[in-house]
Amino acid sequence: MQNEILNKQNRRTVAIVLAAGQGKRMGTDVAKQFLLLNDKPILYYSLAVFEKSSYIDEVILVTNPEGLSICEEIVKENGFRKVTSVVLGGKERYHSVWNGLQAAAGSGKKPSYVFIHDGARPFLNEEIIERNINALQKDPACVTAVPSKDTVKIADEDGYVATTPNRSLVWNMQTPQSFEFGLAYDAYRQLIENEEDLKRKGIAITDDAMVVEYFTETKVKLVEGSYENIKITTPEDLKIAKEFL
Ligand code: C5P
Repeated sequence: MQNEILNKQNRRTVAIVLAAGQGKRMGTDVAKQFLLLNDKPILYYSLAVFEKSSYIDEVILVTNPEGLSICEEIVKENGFRKVTSVVLGGKERYHSVWNGLQAAAGSGKKPSYVFIHDGARPFLNEEIIERNINALQKDPACVTAVPSKDTVKIADEDGYVATTPNRSLVWNMQTPQSFEFGLAYDAYRQLIENEEDLKRKGIAITDDAMVVEYFTETKVKLVEGSYENIKITTPEDLKIAKEFL
């Protein structure tokens, strides 16, 4: 029903799936997004969800030079027809996102919405995509997130506790993070133009919402994710992921 409404409005939604990281924290030769989980590369799972999703029209896959042939093989073997291009990423995650956004802007009709997703998060599902699409009808910048189960402390530079935020207001960020395309594109363009300035100030960009928060006045809406929507980062995560499957 929701999808019918969106189709009538002739909106095009692109997903950028990031698979250009080196995955050093996993300690394996193969980057984490290509490790096998039940005989399929981790990257396969989120691509399969986007492929099946009634809300996503096109997928842009971002990878590194070593991952190029693996990605092309995953796309071909599984018949992922929504993947229109596989492009190279960059040194930092935000460079990879920017390359993906440029590819999305250059591929035919300008997208209405963009979903930015970590290829290392295999447990994405259609409900999370739907909740983001619904939220985008009201707010142009949305992030998938879950309430923090742990108390979080802000530390000072000497390793002492500085403050304790109220846990009921602390959320852990996940992906996809979803945006009106023009908003994300403009915010990222400004980030790339001001990259050196941010580095001088010691500001590290660790997610997409942060780019919108920093360079625009737009408020970012939290959208409920799932505690299973983990990012595979270290060997323990791989064990947990096998349990989930
Ligand atoms: O390194 P991190 O765990 O934050 O990576 C999150 C996602 O971003 C992973 O899917 C990884 O492949 C991707 N990434 C990327 N380009 C980079 C760094 C990370 O596409 N330069």
